[in-house]
Amino acid sequence: MAIHESREYEVKGIPLVCPICGRNRFWTHTTLMNTAGATLFGLDWANRSAVNYICEHCGHILWFWSEE
Ligand SMILES: [Zn+2]
Repeated sequence: MAIHESREYEVKGIPLVCPICGRNRFWTHTTLMNTAGATLFGLDWANRSAVNYICEHCGHILWFWSEE
C-alpha cells in the first residue's frame, strides 16, 4: 500500500478535524466494504467502498461512505 503525504481535507465543505487530538492532517485509504460481515446488517454493500481518513498525529481513523 502506498502511503501518500498527509494533507488537509474537507467533507461537504467542512474542514476535517480529528475528534481525538484536534489536528487536521490525515492520510487516506479506501476500503472495499464487500465483505461477508456486511451481510449481518442486511445491506447490499457489494461494490461499495468507504474512505478512511487516518489522523497523522494520533492514528484515529474516520470513516466515510464513498458516494461514487
Ligand atoms: Zn488525531
